[in-house]
Amino acid sequence: MSEVSVTKDAVEKTGELVALTGVNKHFGALHVLQDVNLSIARGEVVVVIGPSGSGKSTLCRTINRLETIDAGTITIDGNPLPQEGRELARLRADVGMVFQSFNLFAHKTVLQNVMLGQLKVRKTDKKAAEEKARALLDRVGVGTQADKYPSQLSGGQQQRVAIARALAMDPKVMLFDEPTSALDPEMINEVLDVMQQLAREGMTMVVVTHEMGFARSAANRVVFMADGRILEEAPPEQFFSNPRSDRAKDFLSKIL
Ligand code: ADP
Ligand code: MG
Repeated sequence: MSEVSVTKDAVEKTGELVALTGVNKHFGALHVLQDVNLSIARGEVVVVIGPSGSGKSTLCRTINRLETIDAGTITIDGNPLPQEGRELARLRADVGMVFQSFNLFAHKTVLQNVMLGQLKVRKTDKKAAEEKARALLDRVGVGTQADKYPSQLSGGQQQRVAIARALAMDPKVMLFDEPTSALDPEMINEVLDVMQQLAREGMTMVVVTHEMGFARSAANRVVFMADGRILEEAPPEQFFSNPRSDRAKDFLSKIL
């Protein structure tokens, strides 16, 4: 067994952190999530793959309630996600999200981007928020960029700032929706390395990605989606060597 896979299984997985049960979602006539059941343990890294349009982004967006669901339940650390209100805001802050397109605040500095949620949502005092922001920026390797604006940074740096910003909220789980898809190839690894490190430290993560090297080395489980359904779930070594469904075989033959 490789050193990497020893490391990834060394994190203790204790108890369910995220649970989707019977989740259904429509966009008009389109049944975009169909009876989705997914249980994610604390410390687990789940990589979600599947063809474009299969519902991967919608799945992520329902987990932090950027999208409502039509049926089913989603719980975070045992707490059901309510439809709205103060409790929703509190629970949503437990779920960090990193998007393909970085989504940093363009008119705020890097440091301000990482402080903002702490000040507004967590009500952290300014000095503590700044200290934490600087520590997180150092941790993702962009500490020297703190006073710049996002547009002055490379894509890889911006995405690492986005990760620091999400981490500043002390999330229980981090969702990544194709975090490297908008990056020039030479910047992909600097972002994946930060994600690898997070995984090793025991962060619970749901990662939508086409980076199969990352899936093999960091994921505890691969979830394959097609047409709004989870068709297969398996540890990466099993999924990649022995996909069961024709859809998964077809998908893998196109991307590997
Ligand atoms: P993936 O991330 O796997 O590519 P998405 O979750 O983005 O898939 O989309 C799944 C399906 O839902 C696609 O057919 C997409 O066009 C559709 N869809 C996504 N968001 C919306 C929306 N806000 N309104 C209507 N249709 C949507
Ligand atoms: Mg998507």
